[in-house]
Amino acid sequence: AAVPSDSPTIFDKIINKEIPATVVFENDKVLAFRDITPQAPTHILIIPKVKDGLTGLSKADERHCEILGQLLYTAKLVAKQEGLDDGFRIVINDGPNGCQSVYHIHVHLIGGRQMNWPPG
Ligand code: 5GP
Repeated sequence: AAVPSDSPTIFDKIINKEIPATVVFENDKVLAFRDITPQAPTHILIIPKVKDGLTGLSKADERHCEILGQLLYTAKLVAKQEGLDDGFRIVINDGPNGCQSVYHIHVHLIGGRQMNWPPG
């Protein structure tokens, strides 16, 4: 786990193309790219291009409602694009107990195999 902070993260470097990432979807508001340590055949991270204080979901304010919707809708579009027609999982880890390691909000889109519940 990482210490919560509003400092720039590795995801800013990905947004700014300072480090490479395999981008699978992009528009003016969001970026979706493959997780460097995939936990399933498909494991994609969906992030806002502008963090605007949204280090994690627990920091969300009314002004973030639109971008939160964009992140989830992008997850749906990318799931379709990835052919996850039998289902998938969306995860947002928050804070130390949630095992959040990067403090720039991100939606995990995980699929391509059977998921288990409860997750543990
Ligand atoms: P969290 O644990 O914060 O919910 O998820 C952070 C995710 O970012 C992890 O799944 C981790 O593998 C991924 N990640 C960390 N650094 C990089 C990177 O430099 N590139 C990519 N593509 N993914 C990264």
